[in-house]
Amino acid sequence: MIPISISRMETYARCPFAQLVRYGLRPRERKQFSLRAPDIGDYLHGLLERYGRRVEKEKMSWQELQQTECERIIEEVLAEVPEDYGGGIFEATGAGRYLRRRLHRMFALSAWMLTCQIGRGDYIPWSYELDFGRFGELPPVEVALEDGSRVLLEGRIDRVDLRREEDTVWLRIIDYKTGAKEFRLSDLYYGIGIQLALYAVAMLKGWAKRDSRAAKLAGMFFFRLDDPWLDEKSGGGENPESAMLKKFRLKGLLLQDQAVIRKMDRELTASSTSDIIPAALLKDESLSAKTMALPPEEMQVLFDYVQFWLRQNAGDMLAGACPILPAADGRGMNACSFCQYHAICQFDPELKDNQYRWLQELPADAALGRMQQALQRNRRAKTEEEEV
Ligand code: SF4
Repeated sequence: MIPISISRMETYARCPFAQLVRYGLRPRERKQFSLRAPDIGDYLHGLLERYGRRVEKEKMSWQELQQTECERIIEEVLAEVPEDYGGGIFEATGAGRYLRRRLHRMFALSAWMLTCQIGRGDYIPWSYELDFGRFGELPPVEVALEDGSRVLLEGRIDRVDLRREEDTVWLRIIDYKTGAKEFRLSDLYYGIGIQLALYAVAMLKGWAKRDSRAAKLAGMFFFRLDDPWLDEKSGGGENPESAMLKKFRLKGLLLQDQAVIRKMDRELTASSTSDIIPAALLKDESLSAKTMALPPEEMQVLFDYVQFWLRQNAGDMLAGACPILPAADGRGMNACSFCQYHAICQFDPELKDNQYRWLQELPADAALGRMQQALQRNRRAKTEEEEV
């Protein structure tokens, strides 16, 4: 059994060679006394985890938590951060001190915004920084490869919210991002955005092993940690709170079920768009086309496809298929943009045999259609194999 992380598989989808360098060769970077993007992400994740745990420890109701209480908890969480955090990295320079102030503003605003989001619905945080894997709270996602070997997919889910009904548990999966991140079925199809779907698979499978009540996915989302400004254009003049909530609106996918969606935003009314989730209602209160939602059977296609994609690609990766083949698309995504390994690969698109793997952007229904076709082809091939 071979353990593999989700970020490794996404790296493989972006550039197989970058994956080989990062996870196979593992070159060690020269140590620098500076904070990098992953360090900043870890710092903010840690603060938010402590914030959530403190709300729970004080047995406060997320639905009734007032801004003054929220601010007190934020201050207490920040007071716990040691002055010499990271070997004094923040205190060492003026830029470090400025960065710390900015991160603390981001944390404070993000904590209040996620509190407002939770408060507007019936979902309660159930777990933070939830590990699935060999040593995690949940088991890894096991995928059998063509050659009979098995890989164990491991990862960490930033937050899982629950809503309990008599015989069903509804799950909401949240992943915190420090940068802008959209959820696109096209990215899932190409393997460069499998994270949320795989978290959902891990959570649903893991839950089935620990609780007899059926668990269903209500939605999976990215939440951006941010400190945005409001101006006239973004609506700050009229209703600053609603305008700010919109800036933090969750990005992702809902289950196409009006009752489930309304339990996430009690204030969603006819002819309106939710401030907090990607949902909108028409005059007759049916879901508008702007709502990012899929019915249960299509949601299942995503879960099946992500495991199928892993089976195909983990097998190729472990067999050593790691060409220099960076992905790029028409939206400006380019795997090389933030890659540290250019000095090793020497990729040069001017050379004939150095080419990008161009990903055609697919509308959601086309991406879903391709996933369905891939699964059908795979099923047919399996049946034929069995018949031979
Ligand atoms: S620089 Fe581009 S081609 Fe080279 S390893 Fe990184 S992503 Fe791949």
